[in-house]
Amino acid sequence: MLCLLYPQWLTVADVRGYYNVGIIRVALHVVLIAAFALGATSVALRKTRLLGGAGMVVVLIATLLGGSRASARLAEHSDVYFGLDFFLLNLILLGTIFIPIERLFKRQDQPVFRDDWREDLFYFFVSSLFVQSLAYLSLTPSMVMLEGTAWASGFRQMIASQPLLLQFFEIMLFTDIVQYGFHRSFYEIPWLWRFHSVHHSAQKMDWIAGSRMHLFETILLRAFTTLPMYLPGLAWTCRTGFVCVHLFRVLNVCVRTCECQIPISLPAEADRRATLSPLASRD
Ligand SMILES: [Zn+2]
Repeated sequence: MLCLLYPQWLTVADVRGYYNVGIIRVALHVVLIAAFALGATSVALRKTRLLGGAGMVVVLIATLLGGSRASARLAEHSDVYFGLDFFLLNLILLGTIFIPIERLFKRQDQPVFRDDWREDLFYFFVSSLFVQSLAYLSLTPSMVMLEGTAWASGFRQMIASQPLLLQFFEIMLFTDIVQYGFHRSFYEIPWLWRFHSVHHSAQKMDWIAGSRMHLFETILLRAFTTLPMYLPGLAWTCRTGFVCVHLFRVLNVCVRTCECQIPISLPAEADRRATLSPLASRD
């Protein structure tokens, strides 16, 4: 509803025009009714009424501010925005994919709302909310280097003219090598480990635990990862396909579900090997 009230500030500019607002309003209406009903049920059944009561109050406030009929309150355009819509879409999409997978394969003998879920959700929230600034900081090194090496455009055209399947394997190989070196350096260099130890402070593992990462490392990791994606001139299709596949690889779905011990992902292998490192016990 806040996205409907302040789309200029709270939605990603590049995708704002693609939303079907009619469907979003219907979905929001259903969510508000369900949230109020669940809040009332919680108040009726639980000894502690705080949580259910708070939920009902939030729904009432949302309804007073317009609910599913809320419309934009500001007309002016804003160059700066936060990705509240990006956070919600990420949460819904990834949750819909990974929560059933984790239940199905029973690799997680813990509830969805396990200990520390709020902390991990907070990291997930922050990295999604600041999507614009994170994207800018992550892509700037690649864009600057692309401009500075315009003389290599012939080489990039040659790379881009290769079969897409070959380019896809190349992008997997290049990014894995870069990420492996990046990841290892965060173990080998003590002051970098102080940042990386945040990532390994999670006591409970599930799909959202990987979001626990220091912003400094998040920016550097994305900046380094995008270098081998952009500099060689690999096709846009391959870069987009890689991002989708990489999501599953980083979350180690394959490793977890088939109990395969082969290092499917080099960055994940760096984690496994690093458990042998004396630095690994620093957290
Ligand atoms: Zn690690």
